[in-house]
Order: sequence, then structure tokens, then C-alpha cells
Amino acid sequence: MFITCLDLEGVLIPEIWIAVAKRMKIPELEITTRDEPDYDKLMKKRIEILNMNNITLNDIQTIIKSMTPLLGAKEFLDWLQEYSEILILTDSYREFAKPMVKALGNYALFCHNLEINEEGKIVKYNLRLRNMKKITIQKLKELNFVLIAVGDSYNDIEMLKEADFGILFRPPENVKAEYPQFPSIFEYAELKENIKEILTS
Ligand SMILES: [Mg+2]
Repeated sequence: MFITCLDLEGVLIPEIWIAVAKRMKIPELEITTRDEPDYDKLMKKRIEILNMNNITLNDIQTIIKSMTPLLGAKEFLDWLQEYSEILILTDSYREFAKPMVKALGNYALFCHNLEINEEGKIVKYNLRLRNMKKITIQKLKELNFVLIAVGDSYNDIEMLKEADFGILFRPPENVKAEYPQFPSIFEYAELKENIKEILTS
């Protein structure tokens, strides 16, 4: 029995913070973990910027609802669900990710969550646990599943290492170069072929 754990942003949908930054015309929101490796600092900064600009969760959800999955993502998942259970494993937040996961076919979603005040502003983020991606893979392996993991960036590497089969999908050049042990794949058709091989190996 296979479970395929897929990262969300960059693999199935565009980057949410980048879309919010562009739509709201706030370039400071385009900073990512590549610019600020300390995730806690990065998230606190993002929340501060949102509140300084009076942006509510509702405003962000409106932007997210107008976003569409990456071209071919849904068709790929439609194919994959015939052969493998699907788990979307993301460091994003339920309040952001859920509408996009619905558009993709409403697969199981493991993520973090946000705390919202009575004005609808984001006041805090809660990590469900640290290293969630890696620990999820470990625990599912203990249940005797064979794990395929697909991710695009540094925060996916631990889960790729832990899985039986790790795949980089559309990684930036530096991630691709640093982790040559994982195949780097750029198109869904090729990803499908790669997973087909795993399923029949
Ligand atoms: Mg990603």
C-alpha cells in the first residue's frame, strides 16, 4: 500500500504569500524562507506587515479563492489517487490551504493553523508540531505503508530523506544542485512516469 505525501505550494499550487504580496502591492511580503531562514522571525514579520496594512484573514482568503492550482496538478492527482493514497503535507495553514485543497479534489490535509482575533486579523500562528513533514512520514512507515514524498524546497528535504522514494518537483537551482540524490522533475507527465515506475518496482 502506497501513500504519496505532496507538498502544496510550489508543487500543486502557486506560492500563496507571493500572490498576496503581488495583489496587495506589498513587496515586503515576498520574503520567503530563502531570504529569512528563521521561520519564526519570518512569520512574525509577515503577521506584523499584514496588521500594519489592516489586511484580514478574509482579505487573504479572497485572494486565495481567486488563485488556481498549477496547470495539470488536478489531473495528476486524479490519476494518482487510483494507485496511491494521497496526503497533502504542507507547512502552510489550514485557513489558507483548505480552499486550494478543495479545488484539487479535497484530499487529506496535514498543516498548521492561525489564530484570528474578533476583527478578523491574524494574531498568531500555531505549528502543530516541529518537523511535522518528517515525523508524519516516519509514523506512516510504522503503519507499513510505502511512502513516496514530493516537494520543491528546503523544508521538504527531511521528508524526502525519510520516505522510501523522494522526488524534487520544480526545485530552484540551488536545491536541485545540493540534493542530487533525489530526481528533479519539472513536468507532471514526467512525475507520473516516475511514480508509475515506483508503483511497479
Ligand atoms: Mg513548497
